Amino acid sequence: MDKNPPLRVALLGCGVVGSEVARLIDEQAADLAARVGAPVELVGIGVRRPELVRDGLSERNRDLLTTDAMGLVSREDVDVVIEVIGGIEPARSLILAALEHGASVVTANKALLAEDGPTLYAAAEKAGGDLYYEAAVAGAIPILRPLRESLAGDQVTRVLGIVNGTTNYILDQMHTLGKGYEEALEEAQRLGYAEADPTADVEGFDAAAKAAILASLAFHTRVTGTDVHREGISEVTAADVNSAKQMGNVVKLLAICALVDTPEGPAVSARVHPAMIPNTHPLASVHGAYNAVFVESKAAGQLMFYGPGAGGAPTASAVLGDLVTVARNRLTQVKGVGESAYADLPVVPMGQTQTRYLVQIDVDDKAGVLAEVARTFANHDVSIQTVRQEGRGDDAVLVVVSHRASDADLSATVADLQALPFVREVSSVLRVEGEQ
Ligand code: NAP
Repeated sequence: MDKNPPLRVALLGCGVVGSEVARLIDEQAADLAARVGAPVELVGIGVRRPELVRDGLSERNRDLLTTDAMGLVSREDVDVVIEVIGGIEPARSLILAALEHGASVVTANKALLAEDGPTLYAAAEKAGGDLYYEAAVAGAIPILRPLRESLAGDQVTRVLGIVNGTTNYILDQMHTLGKGYEEALEEAQRLGYAEADPTADVEGFDAAAKAAILASLAFHTRVTGTDVHREGISEVTAADVNSAKQMGNVVKLLAICALVDTPEGPAVSARVHPAMIPNTHPLASVHGAYNAVFVESKAAGQLMFYGPGAGGAPTASAVLGDLVTVARNRLTQVKGVGESAYADLPVVPMGQTQTRYLVQIDVDDKAGVLAEVARTFANHDVSIQTVRQEGRGDDAVLVVVSHRASDADLSATVADLQALPFVREVSSVLRVEGEQ
């Protein structure tokens, strides 16, 4: 084992994830050396503010801190670059430079992969290096390698993911404790599950980037963040959550990637939005800030991957798994799996996406209202599965669950309902997912 020279690793970023990566490389040095077949040696750590006090960073690693990240990745003696800075720039330029200089790259950067993954893949292909990014989706949970390798002989048909811990925590608090959205968000911020500016999480940007990565791998097609339809949870009300609960359902923010049939042939649907799923669905039991990804494939059937989707050490676990793989590949002069986009399927616009809906309508309680509401649904070919009416004095609430319909037809139905004279408000529209 010791006959092989050390594998030299440059770490870019020493924040929540990077500091744990540095710690694990130190603490597990002997095991890593045995598993890789050569010692793994950190040769530099790129940061923005080297003067920052970093608890837990060893003295040796402190001496490796540098603000010259570009200089670090341009060294010819670096074998692997780990990028855990995040964001688009300078991360993209640093990764491209690392590949050009002959290094393999491990990254946790979902935002960059969702925006410009093909450029990174092309650079890795050209340079003959590896590009691995297990930590970019669902933190510690092994999901990208199963999609890319374990299921490579199967046909994945659908991926449903709870891939954002912040939003799952908020919705779980609303469901289990009856809290409102604002109250649950404040609690999440107090506990460190949500950022001071929670936009990226609560508006679904983070989940949309992950959906793009999942859809690309599952369906061998390039899907970018902008291809993914995105709705966040900031409009989800306590009343929505309560209606779902009364019907034996729970509201979750789902990343949904599906292979769909269209008149023109197979296509990909990729979307992130709140949805109602039955309590019996395995994803319904994912509580707190946990993540889970539910995969359906033709031969394997249903698979569920569950665990911590964020946090320094869990995410570092996924980074180190990739580090061991790319290090072994270098030692044996093998190149790992590259991009697989041969299927090149179109992505369907949200309007054509088919699903079921729960529509809650506040109406005047008088004769003929139900018939007129049913006619409005029928006018747009949206067929009703169940309808429940709750009287409340001189007004009533109609809770309608539809059969599968297109998003465009449902939107047109809602617009017409809102224009009816006896409709006071369409108070809730929720998609219904998770049919098994
Ligand atoms: P973080 O705590 O904000 O750390 C970012 C690090 O990058 C810091 O050490 C910072 O330096 C350094 N940095 C920022 N700009 C830089 C620049 N221009 N040049 C050199 N270094 C720079 O971020 P994080 O939470 O560890 O996340 C890192 C990556 O992991 C992101 O892509 C994120 O999406 C991904 N990820 C994070 C988690 C998680 O739970 N945190 C989970 C999954 C994936 P200073 O320390 O000097 O400021």
